[in-house]
Amino acid sequence: MRPARGVAVLGSTGSVGRNALDVIARFPDRFRVSALCAGKNAEELSAQARRFRPPVVCLSEERHGSRLGRLPRGTRVVFGEEGMSEVACSGETDIVLAAAAGVTSIRPVIAAARAGKRIALANKELLVMAGKFLVGAARAGGGGILPVDSEHSAVFQAIEGHRKQDISRIILTASGGPFRNRTFRQMRNATVGEALGHPTWRMGAKISVDSATLMNKGFEVIEAMWLFDLPPDRIDVLIHPQSIVHSMVEYRDGSLIAQLGVPDMRIPVGYALSYPERLPLELPRLLPHRMVSWVFEPPDRKSFPALALAYAAAEAGGTAPATLNAANEVAVAAFLAGRIRFTDIVRVAEALMAAWRRGGRPATLKDVLRADAEAREEATRIISRMRRPHKP
Ligand code: MG
Repeated sequence: MRPARGVAVLGSTGSVGRNALDVIARFPDRFRVSALCAGKNAEELSAQARRFRPPVVCLSEERHGSRLGRLPRGTRVVFGEEGMSEVACSGETDIVLAAAAGVTSIRPVIAAARAGKRIALANKELLVMAGKFLVGAARAGGGGILPVDSEHSAVFQAIEGHRKQDISRIILTASGGPFRNRTFRQMRNATVGEALGHPTWRMGAKISVDSATLMNKGFEVIEAMWLFDLPPDRIDVLIHPQSIVHSMVEYRDGSLIAQLGVPDMRIPVGYALSYPERLPLELPRLLPHRMVSWVFEPPDRKSFPALALAYAAAEAGGTAPATLNAANEVAVAAFLAGRIRFTDIVRVAEALMAAWRRGGRPATLKDVLRADAEAREEATRIISRMRRPHKP
């Protein structure tokens, strides 16, 4: 039997990170934790370190280090982007689970991909922002990018063993989020609590809000473009509130091949770690004879303008997706802080996209990061001029 593979978990205290650690804990003969990286949740990182005993842990900033408390003997602490790069590229690491929030992990993940590590990719923002560079690095390194996002894992599974030229289109499914049957106007006074109430998946705050605006689905279209090398006009979205069919691939003979499963992130996380094997996960099974009805319907593009914005950014290419991503991230943070309305999130994104100039293609990652920083500044300026919503 081959030795256990080392997994560096970037974003170990987030929702995907915890699911990954659950999978790793079930299969100690297959996986060991080579590093744990968190943002500022030092307490949980420390508890995880005591359980998994990795050689190294990483926090975003040194000032959070004092809260780490007691670490197992032999566990080092590193910090920041540099620390994350070190653990992602280390000889101990075979697989990098990229689930850290935000853009700070972009350089470490690209470096790891170039070094030939397998990238189990959960942080779709990395492909949205810098798909060209991440895909290029993975191609050069040869370790591959395995999708953790449930829809893309489904597509990946439905594509295996098929020829790319036989694919006519990809259909990404979307639960529709908590506001599925609302109009744009009816979402105006949506509260943070309502926006976080995702019907089928339990996730972090940022992605839950993105699911409520459908920006998440828009980003997933861009993610699919990069992962499967298809233009946006061959990637469609269908609302499927049951979240059982995780996505489908249509072939030119008219066949649709889909992947189905209970909505549990441990399935796509496990597959990204263990591919091409499948892990005996022993989760609750999907029972076809218990399924009552499935609904598939086209998204309401008027009520959810984020979707069209993402398609436009995908078509425009260059730094447009990075600009959209940055604007959205700033706006979602402002919404979560009670600073703007739910419907202002897409307004901010629209304003940034309207101002985006079709410039040269980004030649380097630096160009992308500059566009990201400029978009964040501009989004912050726009938000500062918006009227604060009244407390309900
Ligand atoms: Mg998804």
